[in-house]
Amino acid sequence: MRKGSRHSQSSLRRMRHPRGPKRDPLERFNEKVDRNGPTIRPELGSCHIWTGKLRRGQFRYGQFYFRGRWVEAHRFIFEHVNGTLPQGQCALHHCDNPPCVNEAHLFAGSRRDNALDMIQKGRHRPGRGERQRDAKLSYEMADTIRWSHRIGGVSIKTLARWYEVGETTIARVVHNETWVLPKAA
Ligand SMILES: [Zn+2]
Repeated sequence: MRKGSRHSQSSLRRMRHPRGPKRDPLERFNEKVDRNGPTIRPELGSCHIWTGKLRRGQFRYGQFYFRGRWVEAHRFIFEHVNGTLPQGQCALHHCDNPPCVNEAHLFAGSRRDNALDMIQKGRHRPGRGERQRDAKLSYEMADTIRWSHRIGGVSIKTLARWYEVGETTIARVVHNETWVLPKAA
């Protein structure tokens, strides 16, 4: 930043009062992040949950006010670390947790990649019948399902479609009736 006599009175005032509109964006950003989020997959470590404004609707991504407009919080931090994403690319979540802004959980891809990724994560095991159908899930998937439903607001019906299981199966997971890890003593 330029130093010396070229600052106007108002910019000098802003520099003396860091709470003004020109605060460092990263500092403002970090104030809204809870770094003790859930661990959805052990190898990823904990999610960093956006505690500020969330987008309405199915995918509750964090919203961050930056350069005069609302941007996706996870995209902001991804671009801060990695540089601006090319046209058509988005920051996607390894953890499938929309309000997560942990840069280590983000990767670049197209919206189509995102859709394919969701389908692949949900489509693993073949097999029919109640037992086998239930075995299509895992503890990790169950965690993701619960978070998608509670935080992301994804409906049971949609989750059933993504994971190719019955709505009853998803409802049992969401209500902690199945796929609950025994608590460590
Ligand atoms: Zn995460």
